[in-house]
Amino acid sequence: MAGIYIHIPFCKKRCIYCDFYSTTDNRRCSSYIDTLCKELLTRINEVGKDQIHTIYIGGGTPSQLSIDQLSLLINFIKSSIDFAKIEEFTIEVNPDDVTLEYIKACYSLGINRISMGIQSFVDNELQIINRRHNAKQAEDAVILIKQAGITNISIDLIYGLPLQTTESWVYSIENAIKLNVPHISCYNLSYEEGTTLYNMREKGEIVECGEDTCIEMYEILVSKLKKAGYEHYEISNFAKTGYYSRHNSNYWNMTPYLGLGASAHSFDGKTRRYNPATIHEYMQKIVDSGVAYEEEEETKYEQYNEYVMINLRTMWGINLKKVQELFGSELYDHLIKYSRKFITSGEIKESDKTINLTEKGIMISDYIIRTLMIVP
Ligand code: SF4
Repeated sequence: MAGIYIHIPFCKKRCIYCDFYSTTDNRRCSSYIDTLCKELLTRINEVGKDQIHTIYIGGGTPSQLSIDQLSLLINFIKSSIDFAKIEEFTIEVNPDDVTLEYIKACYSLGINRISMGIQSFVDNELQIINRRHNAKQAEDAVILIKQAGITNISIDLIYGLPLQTTESWVYSIENAIKLNVPHISCYNLSYEEGTTLYNMREKGEIVECGEDTCIEMYEILVSKLKKAGYEHYEISNFAKTGYYSRHNSNYWNMTPYLGLGASAHSFDGKTRRYNPATIHEYMQKIVDSGVAYEEEEETKYEQYNEYVMINLRTMWGINLKKVQELFGSELYDHLIKYSRKFITSGEIKESDKTINLTEKGIMISDYIIRTLMIVP
């Protein structure tokens, strides 16, 4: 089993909170797609062309690609892998790019899952973070996606936005529930250095949502989505039964994946590879040598830390037997020793050789994860 991630680093305009790599200059879009195809051809053996079960086209804004550009890219992928094995094929779209024609084209190309960044159903909250769409466009987009035949839809929401209140957050959650999509991801707004949002806060132009309010928003979220029938399967992810993101679950299971494009990462089970974070450097390196990445073999300790961080965030938790098998007695003993105090305080529960965060533990998950990690 393996996955492919493809990064499309073009956005029509930049959202003020975003620190992902993307550019609003799309003049090199066509040559970028040619470069992606070259990279796929060169690197497919890192994961095996008959091993791919999930594909994820993310960004940036992949729905900025025209239907012709998307067709070119996907048809090339189809000719390079055993496409019959694909179980989940996701593309990220922006609500105001969604038309019936576009989604029908996606569907006919084999895409069976849409992930859409809605973020809020309140227009002034969307405007202040410089999103392109409004709430009505987001609602209409979900209807169009379903009309085009794709029912596996994920939407993203953000809490802790400037101007957001617990009441307006409840309004956004209730609207999301009404849309009856099977997957919802929710993130706490973070102020990353270098973003416009960060600079605005530093200048006092916006007020950050308080920590207590963010915690209250998260609690409301969990309670409302659970009541609406969503499983809280990862700290930031909720799904109706059977609609867990398979591609993202692969990241959590440490399944190999091939990341193509500027700023994409790859993992073959042992080695992590990182592509350069600018289009120019990425394309130049592919032209010069066929590959653009730098690689880093992970130590046992780094792999353990990653394993703990990723798995503790999920409802499946950490399988202790697997920790012993994968990392040996030293790290197994470390995990048992440091998880003990959280078990006593009710923040971690242990059953059937598995440890999971409790609801109380989720609230301090970063602290717990840091404690369970090892500094060699
Ligand atoms: S559309 Fe997405 S990738 Fe582009 S700037 Fe906004 S958040 Fe970032």
